[in-house]
Amino acid sequence: MVDVAESEKASGRMSLGHDDVLRWIRVFAAEVEANKEQLTSLDSAIGDGDHGINMERGMSAVLVKVDAAGEEQDIGALLKTVGMTLVSTVGGAGGPLYGTLFLQMGTVLTGRAELGPDDWAAALDAAITGVQGRGKAEPGDKTMIDALIPGRDALKAALAEGATFEQALRQSADAAGQGMRDTIPLVARKGRASYLGERSAGHQDPGATSSHLLLEAAADAWGRPEQAG
Ligand code: ADP
Ligand code: MG
Repeated sequence: MVDVAESEKASGRMSLGHDDVLRWIRVFAAEVEANKEQLTSLDSAIGDGDHGINMERGMSAVLVKVDAAGEEQDIGALLKTVGMTLVSTVGGAGGPLYGTLFLQMGTVLTGRAELGPDDWAAALDAAITGVQGRGKAEPGDKTMIDALIPGRDALKAALAEGATFEQALRQSADAAGQGMRDTIPLVARKGRASYLGERSAGHQDPGATSSHLLLEAAADAWGRPEQAG
């Protein structure tokens, strides 16, 4: 009693198309909107209180842009459009950093109409390399990197152990959530929060929180069998 969709998932061969990637972007935009107040209040505690507003403004502009983009099926081109839109509409540290994240993912996926588990791992590698290249944050500096790296590592570990793409995405999102919570006791060493020194400890990092939403959105958008493929 194994149908084709089930066996594809079981073998981890499930691959996603342009419209699936677009759905991830839409789910992320909706998550940012739904969590705008939380992101803003976290940033009020250790920054300047604009992270929710920044991300919401950026993702609203992204939705307008991708809606106008038409029949394009290149996943890389789509992600580059997202990145360029964020760079040009969002100020502060978050805009350029998220812009770089999407631009680097887009570069790795240039010309691709499909995305499988290994492609997603490669996209996360490129995203992290890009964000670190730009912001110079290391793990433990209390930034978005502290959600992205555990998320990427959990994805790869799950795939190496034979998990399906769907299971690996869930483990990735959960690990990013743990990484986000683990920023609470950290003293910030990058970005505005670092100006607070020891007083930044005891607060969850806003950027790690939005990066958790990013990976949670992937698990939600791509994790449901009826929407897969
Ligand atoms: P700003 O700090 O300019 O107001 P945002 O509030 O939009 O920008 O974003 C703040 C978030 O950006 C922080 O919570 C942190 O996760 C992330 N961040 C700041 N500086 C860096 C950096 N150098 N590398 C990685 N992430 C960073
Ligand atoms: Mg801020």
